[in-house]
Amino acid sequence: MPDEPKYKRILLKLSGEGLMGNQPFGIDSEEVARTAAEVKAVRDLGAQVGLVIGGGNIFRGLSDAAAGIERTTADYMGMMATVMNALAMSSALKAQGVPSSVMSGIAMPVVCDSYTRREAVARLEAGEVVVFAGGTGNPFFTTDTAAALRAAETGCDALIKGTQVDGVYDADPKKVPNAKRYERLTYQQVLADNLRVMDQTAVALARENHIPMLVCSVHEPGELARVVAGGGRFTIIEDPN
Ligand code: UDP
Repeated sequence: MPDEPKYKRILLKLSGEGLMGNQPFGIDSEEVARTAAEVKAVRDLGAQVGLVIGGGNIFRGLSDAAAGIERTTADYMGMMATVMNALAMSSALKAQGVPSSVMSGIAMPVVCDSYTRREAVARLEAGEVVVFAGGTGNPFFTTDTAAALRAAETGCDALIKGTQVDGVYDADPKKVPNAKRYERLTYQQVLADNLRVMDQTAVALARENHIPMLVCSVHEPGELARVVAGGGRFTIIEDPN
């Protein structure tokens, strides 16, 4: 057995767009399998993993595609998109031998289980990767907020945002070559400077519940597992002691 990971129970937030690969839209199965392998490596450390995946690769409530659709209906459509992503990811995990299930904040009993905190914690403790789908189950929220909420409810040690890059920058490092990378930040800095880490409701929820937020690459092979183990490159957001 490897040494205990630094973070024993994590909530990993991934964007829906991350599952598109090079496609303009939807789900690229190779990209899903590649990401599932990164999650498997974290679980192989002995860490418990909950996952929240966005829905922007399929549908989002505030988009051109939603024009003319009543806001709450469009938001429910967005939440349903997250269920599709969750089913794809859970299926890819199982194909790689990782026990996994989907629990949705919107009841869809024919498709997946409904979320209850009690059952989710039991599954995490049993070593299942639980994919939390359907966002918070409420319109006017985002999957960032759902990730912070599920992290708080299930007592996660860290809320990790898996991105294309190795942390938080003051500008998009893919567009601005000398963008400044932050090693550590406080929740207040993220909120005040409007740094694009997670939306403000999610950051506020993490702060209130003292859950450190880590931003790291899910693109660099093995990096996510290194970060969960206690190494790797990341930006950490927390309050000074
Ligand atoms: N959504 C929602 N409530 C939630 C989570 C998501 O209404 O708790 C909807 C919302 O319309 C959002 C879409 O689902 O646009 C996809 O979620 P995601 O967080 O990926 O949206 P984004 O932040 O990319 O717009």
